[in-house]
Amino acid sequence: MLENSNELAAWDRDHFFHPSTHMGMHARGETPNRIMAGGEGVTIWDTTGKKSIDAFAGLYCVNVGYGRQKITDAIAEQARNLAYYHAYVGHGTEASIRLAKMIIDRAPKGMSRVYFGLSGSDANETNIKLIWYYNNVRGKPEKKKIISRWRGYHGSGVMTGSLTGLAGFHNAFDLPRAPILHTEAPCYYRRADRSMSQEQFSQHCADELEKLILAQGPETIAAFIGEPVLGTGGIVPPPAGYWQKIQAVLTKYDILLIADEVVTGFGRLGTMFGSDHYGMKPDLITIAKGLTSAYAPLSGVVVGDKVWQVLVEGSDKLGPIGHGWTYSAHPICVAAGVANLELIDEMDLVQNAGATGAYFNRQLTEALGGHKHVGEVRGEGMLAAVEFVRDRDDRVFFDASEKIGPQVAAALAERGVIGRAMPQGDILGFAPPLCLTKEEADTIVAKTADAVKSVFSKA
Ligand code: PMP
Repeated sequence: MLENSNELAAWDRDHFFHPSTHMGMHARGETPNRIMAGGEGVTIWDTTGKKSIDAFAGLYCVNVGYGRQKITDAIAEQARNLAYYHAYVGHGTEASIRLAKMIIDRAPKGMSRVYFGLSGSDANETNIKLIWYYNNVRGKPEKKKIISRWRGYHGSGVMTGSLTGLAGFHNAFDLPRAPILHTEAPCYYRRADRSMSQEQFSQHCADELEKLILAQGPETIAAFIGEPVLGTGGIVPPPAGYWQKIQAVLTKYDILLIADEVVTGFGRLGTMFGSDHYGMKPDLITIAKGLTSAYAPLSGVVVGDKVWQVLVEGSDKLGPIGHGWTYSAHPICVAAGVANLELIDEMDLVQNAGATGAYFNRQLTEALGGHKHVGEVRGEGMLAAVEFVRDRDDRVFFDASEKIGPQVAAALAERGVIGRAMPQGDILGFAPPLCLTKEEADTIVAKTADAVKSVFSKA
């Protein structure tokens, strides 16, 4: 289709400002540009015709896989019938109403309404505003601080970039902004004293949280936000008992829990929501990615009954809520969402994410768990990560300048599999589409083992 991809590549370097990219290196042609052209199932291809298994589902989002006609048909039909109308002052489309109901039907108990946005970042921005509004209506205007975790990822806006607990998203942007605070990351492998059990480390995380709350004054803390499994911070499932212990502290001090399920929502852990997987009882849930499998940009805040009642009280006192996006519940995006959630059910993908995800994790552990430079293979459902270390016995990490993680990811890409070099250490992450088969899992594992071998035979 594309006759001159060299020309396109040149335009790319001259005109396209890419997210999360080294701007100078890209403009100078020192980093590769890959121009993607098509996809089918777990496979994608670029304009040169090179095919790859996408073992990261884009950015953990193409959960149903590429090229699903049911969703593209729904998008086309909605675009033909009514490409746009807003959702302000009681307006909607059949798809926006249907999708809200489908989400509440699938959500953990006690959820009431869905507020639609376009990205995980804007949904978390909505969360912050709703929480501030909530405490103003309750007559607690001083209760505004929000606690996040180091290594948490919640977006890259001004406030949501502040929630994100990764230095790369703060440096040189004057973030984090008040009133956002950070607490201990639940990374057992990296952060726990080696004499600690997982339960003890979870207790340590809960104690650190409680110390922070008491130091700040519980009357100033509004909410705590966390991903059920840390994603961009390194794909780290929580240590045993973590969420129960955190939840107890939050309840004690009247602090809301926001479950950021942008990655885990709609099946990735083998349950519809990660909150169900870990027995979390969130007051607000952030959703995006898997909601449409990224066929169209759509996010949402799922609001629990307790918060909803106060919001209603607020509008009775203050009038309509002053918060809305032009594209909230955009008809084309919600139509994609309805078709996507139907397809997840029809293809039984939540079950497959649990079963094939467990198989994938087992095979990865078997192939790499004993390698002298592998410190940990970890995962949950259709999420997995391999963390590389210089010395596994003494848990000594490689110097970042050696770029071991990126080297393994590059060697794997050469072998036709896309994993992700996670930014927080030498971590190779996987988040394949939920439709992955055992055969495809075997291919990813075999190519990963080969890529690892090639990198460490050079070292
Ligand atoms: N929350 C989580 C848990 C995420 O992983 C992400 C994106 N990776 C976001 C929020 C932000 O979503 P977006 O990039 O759509 O703004």
